Amino acid sequence: MSQDIYVLIEHLRGQVAELSYTMLAAGRELAQGAGGNVVAVLLGHNAKELGKDFAADKVLYLDHALLADFTSDAYQKALADLIGKDQPRAVLFGNSSIGADVASVLSMRLDLPLVSSCRSFTQDGKFVSQICGGKIMAEGELPGPTALVTMVPGGYQPDQGRSAAAPSITEAPVPALEALRVALSKYIEPETGDVDISKEPLLIAVGRGIQNKDNIELAENLAQAIGGVVCGSRPVIDQGWLATSRLVGKSGKHVKPKIYFAMGISGAPEHAEAIMQSDTIIAINTDPKAPIFDVAKYGVEGDIFDLVEVLTEKVQQAK
Ligand SMILES: Cc1cc2nc3c(=O)[nH]c(=O)nc-3n(C[C@H](O)[C@H](O)[C@H](O)COP(=O)(O)OP(=O)(O)OC[C@H]3O[C@@H](n4cnc5c(N)ncnc54)[C@H](O)[C@@H]3O)c2cc1C
Repeated sequence: MSQDIYVLIEHLRGQVAELSYTMLAAGRELAQGAGGNVVAVLLGHNAKELGKDFAADKVLYLDHALLADFTSDAYQKALADLIGKDQPRAVLFGNSSIGADVASVLSMRLDLPLVSSCRSFTQDGKFVSQICGGKIMAEGELPGPTALVTMVPGGYQPDQGRSAAAPSITEAPVPALEALRVALSKYIEPETGDVDISKEPLLIAVGRGIQNKDNIELAENLAQAIGGVVCGSRPVIDQGWLATSRLVGKSGKHVKPKIYFAMGISGAPEHAEAIMQSDTIIAINTDPKAPIFDVAKYGVEGDIFDLVEVLTEKVQQAK
């Protein structure tokens, strides 16, 4: 048993997830209190290079052809072996499809406690979880002996998890990975649709607060005036008010515009994780406690319907 904090790095097609850097920053905060090291755990094949900018005391790299692409089966086996042997104080996973899948099974398999949707840690090592779609913050002691924790974005800046100095990278043994039940047969790029919102510099995003399909026109007018593109949260897409290619979030696109203008979006973790790379987030919401204000640089506590038409007019006049 050690006081080290392990962080499972997520990567896809040679790109490390921003959330992994956020978790390295979170790991540092926790390790300082616990008196341990931050250890990045990187699984892959010929992927050692990915570890060179991690702000970690050490990278444990597990290389195997069957770890080249994520499969829950292979990750579970490799991590069960590593965590069982090393017994760190905590292991941080993304509250993502990959992290939630692996962490929940490992919790059962190793009989270890699981804390979900953690946003940050207090200085004395308590977890702060953002639950019920981001509306409730729950604080508690980090359970032992090894706590498995899934993390949402927003509590730390990803840049705090990056380092100019490369950490030491140690190859760790990989257990036998035969008889896996799942293999990746093909990677299919999501359809881009009419526009690729992940590449657009100015996004006008609408949420359930827009109320109905007819009101989308307000967002379209603003987008046209300002030179942006309209996208939306899950309820807007599910209702068929916008095409699926315009979905921002865990099950849609991750975006990184210069400006992300969120209108009537609460900022649930599944949405917020996909907008954290935006340069500037501006939010309008009637609820001052909406979690979108935690990630927005500028916030307006107000009604979309009082503001958007006026704003569109002002932009048109300014032009
Ligand atoms: C596995 C999983 C995957 C998911 N994937 C995604 C995803 O990819 N993308 C996604 O967006 N969600 C996703 N979700 C859903 C997510 O949890 C939230 O339910 C969703 O993001 C909420 O959308 P919203 O903010 O538009 O609606 P709500 O949470 O209902 O928020 C509406 C907001 O509008 C505000 N409002 C109301 N009227 C006005 C007004 N007149 N003016 C200003 N503000 C107003 C309200 O105060 C409220 O904050 C996923 C959930 C799960 C479980």
